[in-house]
Amino acid sequence: MGSQTELIALLKAEGVLNNPAVIKAMKAVDRADFVLPRYRSLAYENYPLSIGFGQTIFQPYTVAFMLELLKVKKGEKILEIGAGSGWQTAMLCQLVGKAGRVVAVERLSKLKRLEHINLAKCHLYQNTITLIQGDGKLGYLAAAPYDKIIAAAAGSGIPEAWKQQLKIGGKIVAPVKHSIWEISKLSAKSFKIIRHWGFSFVPLV
Ligand code: SAH
Repeated sequence: MGSQTELIALLKAEGVLNNPAVIKAMKAVDRADFVLPRYRSLAYENYPLSIGFGQTIFQPYTVAFMLELLKVKKGEKILEIGAGSGWQTAMLCQLVGKAGRVVAVERLSKLKRLEHINLAKCHLYQNTITLIQGDGKLGYLAAAPYDKIIAAAAGSGIPEAWKQQLKIGGKIVAPVKHSIWEISKLSAKSFKIIRHWGFSFVPLV
């Protein structure tokens, strides 16, 4: 595939990309800025690519699917677990806008450095995104509560910390084994879960 425009057209044709805000965010962030230099020519292909350290930049289809579920609004505070290349972080930054905030937690220090370099290309970066190196299973209490939480690596369930750090009325979109769970917090102790099947992810470690 030759261009970002063609990739976006493909995702629309596949029916996974519909929300105008998500389309705008995808257009604003060039995936080629987030892949390793040797994969730049493959940046607009609809598949994951290695970013080193056994990790991958998401398949565009998966990012579109998860961001559509998350329904981010301007001004929201989002917790992202497993920021990897920073590609999705940059799109979240576009979605929340200047008044919002994205807290991105990444386990690997080398990837955190890569994200930092990649995200410097995003003009909203300085004020909107906070990059944290640490274990995302614990969430990030210092900036809680969050309107939305999105995770990039699959565990066997949803960590308790995420549920606690989410606002009532908020939503978590996270991979669990080979599915994506969409969890709405109805009250302090009650959650509604919708499961979407047919995906594969690196493990949450
Ligand atoms: N959306 C990212 C996907 C990166 S792959 C992208 O498109 O680039 C998943 C990421 O989750 C990896 O960077 C991995 O290091 C990270 N990860 C795995 N377990 C984690 C944990 N417990 N806490 C934080 N990050 C974790």
